Amino acid sequence: MRTFETTQAFAKKKDEQDPLAAIRNRFCIQEGVIYMDGNSLGMCSVDAKEALYDVIDKWEKHGIGIWDIENSKYFMYQNVLGEKLAQLIQAKPDEVTVMTNTTINIHQGISTFYHPTKERYKILVDDINFPTDRYAVDSQIRLKGLDPDEAVKIIHSQDERTLDEAAIIEGMTEDVALILLPAVLYRSAQLLDMERVTKAAHERGIIIGWDLCHSIGAVPHDFSKIQPDFAVWCNYKYLSAGPGAIAGFYINERHFEKEPGLAGWQGNKNATQFKLLQAFDHELNAHGWQTGTQPLFSMAPLEGVLNIFLEVGMEAIRTKSLDITAYLMFLADEHLTKLGYEIGNPREDSRRGGHVSLEHPEAYRICKALKNHQVVPDFREPNVIRLAPIALYTSYEEVYQLVEILADIVRNKEYLDYSEERTLVV
Ligand SMILES: *Cc1c(COP(=O)(O)O)cnc(C)c1O
Repeated sequence: MRTFETTQAFAKKKDEQDPLAAIRNRFCIQEGVIYMDGNSLGMCSVDAKEALYDVIDKWEKHGIGIWDIENSKYFMYQNVLGEKLAQLIQAKPDEVTVMTNTTINIHQGISTFYHPTKERYKILVDDINFPTDRYAVDSQIRLKGLDPDEAVKIIHSQDERTLDEAAIIEGMTEDVALILLPAVLYRSAQLLDMERVTKAAHERGIIIGWDLCHSIGAVPHDFSKIQPDFAVWCNYKYLSAGPGAIAGFYINERHFEKEPGLAGWQGNKNATQFKLLQAFDHELNAHGWQTGTQPLFSMAPLEGVLNIFLEVGMEAIRTKSLDITAYLMFLADEHLTKLGYEIGNPREDSRRGGHVSLEHPEAYRICKALKNHQVVPDFREPNVIRLAPIALYTSYEEVYQLVEILADIVRNKEYLDYSEERTLVV
C-alpha cells in the first residue's frame, strides 16, 4: 500500500529518496520545461547523442570500411541491438531484431503468419487500438483477395477505454487465424493480461502477435512465459531512441524455419549473402526477417540509451513508474476531480502501463494552456490528456507542479483563451 501526502515538501522528500534520481542527469533536461510526453517521443539522452555522433565519426574516418571495423559490429548491428532489447522482454537473444518501423513490422509479421483457408481466415483485432495496426491488417487481408468487412473480427470496447480479456477469448472462434493486439492501450493505458490471452489463442490453434509500442521500456514482459508468436514495437516512445528510430521485431524461435513474408537480401544467411545467389536462404533466427540495408543513424541512439535501461533494469523502472503514476493519480483525486477531470486508466498496478489518462471535456484547450506553462502533455481525441511521468527522468516535484498547473488552468478558466481548432501534430 502506497501512502502519499499533498505537500510540496513531500514531493521533495520523494525525490531525495528516489534510487533513480541520479539517472535524470543522463537525460537532456530542458530547464523549466516539464516534459510529460515521454510515452510519445522519449527525451534525448547524453548516451543516445554520443552514440550517434560516434557512428558519424566512424563513417567519416572509415567510409565503407565502417561495415568491417570492430569485428563487423555495424554490419551485425541488428544483432547487437536485438540482444540488448531481448533482455527487456525476457526473450532469447536471437528472437529479436530491429528494422524499419512498427507498421512495416506488423506487415512483416502478418504476411509471415497469415495464410487464410476457407475455414480459418479471420484476423481478430480490437476497436480502440492505434489505427495504423488496423490499416496494416486490412491491407494484408486485401492482398489475399479477401474483404476486410468479412475477414476482420472486431472485439468492441464496452466503455471506449478498456478491453475485456474474457470477451477477447470468447471471440477466438474456429474461423480466426491470427490475432493482433496492443499490450498497453495507447489512450487508456490498460495493460492486457498477455499470458492469459496468448495461452487461450494457442489452445485454439491461433497465431498471436502483440504490439508493445506503449509497454516496452515501461512494463517488463516475460516472453519466456508468455511465448507469443511474434511482437512489434517502436523504440522512440519510452525507449527514447529518437524521432523515427528503428523499430523492434520479435519472432518466437519455434517459427525460425517459416518463410519470411517480406524477404530481402539482408535476411539471407550471412555465410552466403555476398555470393548474391538468386535463391533466398534466410537466416534461421529473427534476423532472417530483415529486408534491406540498415540505417545506422537510426540505430545508434538506441544502442546508447539501451545501456541506461540495462544498467537500471526493468524491475526498478517499473517500480518507480508505478509509484510516480500512483502519486499523480493521488494528487488528481485530491485536487482535480472536483474541477471536472476524471482518471480514465485502470487503477490496479497489474492492469496499467506507464501513463495516466486524464480526461476532461476541455482536454484539447487545456493541453494548449499547458504548453503555455512550459508543460509538454499529449492530447488524444476526443478528451484525453495523456501524462507520462517517466521513471528515468521525471521528478516527483515536477508531478506536484504539473497538478497545480492543471488545477489553475481550469479554476481560472485559462483554457478559454485558446481555440478549439486542431493543429497538425499535437
Ligand atoms: C506509436 C504506435 C505505432 C507507431 O507506428 P510507426 O509505424 O512506428 O509510426 C504503432 N502502433 C501503436 C499501437 C502505437 O502506439
